Amino acid sequence: MTDGSDLPPLREVINTYGLRAEKSLGQNFLLDLNLTGKIARCPGNLDGETVLEVGPGPGGLTRAILGCNVKQLIAIEKDTRCLQPLADVSEAFGGRLTVIEADALSVTEADFLTEKAHIVANLPYNVATPLLIKWLKSRDQFKSMTLMFQKEVADRLIAEPGTKAYGRLSIISQWLCRVSKQFDLSPKAFTPPPKVVSTVVKLIPREKPAFPADMDVLEKVVATAFGQRRKMLRASLKSLGGPTEDNLIAAGIKPTQRAEEITVEQFCRLSEIYRHQKN
Ligand code: SAM
Repeated sequence: MTDGSDLPPLREVINTYGLRAEKSLGQNFLLDLNLTGKIARCPGNLDGETVLEVGPGPGGLTRAILGCNVKQLIAIEKDTRCLQPLADVSEAFGGRLTVIEADALSVTEADFLTEKAHIVANLPYNVATPLLIKWLKSRDQFKSMTLMFQKEVADRLIAEPGTKAYGRLSIISQWLCRVSKQFDLSPKAFTPPPKVVSTVVKLIPREKPAFPADMDVLEKVVATAFGQRRKMLRASLKSLGGPTEDNLIAAGIKPTQRAEEITVEQFCRLSEIYRHQKN
């Protein structure tokens, strides 16, 4: 059989291999097959696709992804205790799973991806945001990213202007991807339960960013604006140099507005004005 049906239940795997959850590795395991299946279905039809998973742990979500008939699943895991149980999963699914023992933050995906991949991952919360930023920078390699975050981070990804959660992460993510919330998961869904609610978010990289802008300049303008988010932009953006008020007006922004009121399109327009001034 190569459909994983002869694998032991996940709780048994955890006991057999002594996989006590390590807080430092952000280990909160998902053992509910309904939920792992629901996450694996978020990207859409994975038949014949290549998928990348970060942090497979004992392999619950991993089994669900393999169950979607993917061509290959490449999983990056830092915890060496998980390697043998994952080798068992690979064998049970006819070798379609390849496990790379590494810190996901330091791998270069292009080194092992031979075609565009979907990312599906229940991310370790302590490295979730840096991983997302890294993947946004190399988004051309990915067809979709279905990622579980703590709810507070997910709220920032999907936030609209005028809300408290709206900020740098909302703007960069929405500029580069179509971002949609999938569903929330209660802490009770995990072993051990984390302190916070979790949310699955799907990001689909846009063929072209939503509006013209240079990523470095946009990031700088947005970071400067939100660095002092309660101040009016005519004050908070002074440190960028140039005629602050004229630039804001040219971008269709009132100099008395604050960062959280400004749309992604307006920030892009403003960053283009700063970029042309520098050249
Ligand atoms: N996918 C499993 C599940 O859903 O039950 C485990 C998810 S658990 C939240 C996060 C996993 O990421 C753990 O297996 C942990 O060992 C792994 N991990 C933590 N930091 C990592 C890193 N920097 N690189 C790769 N894996 C990491």
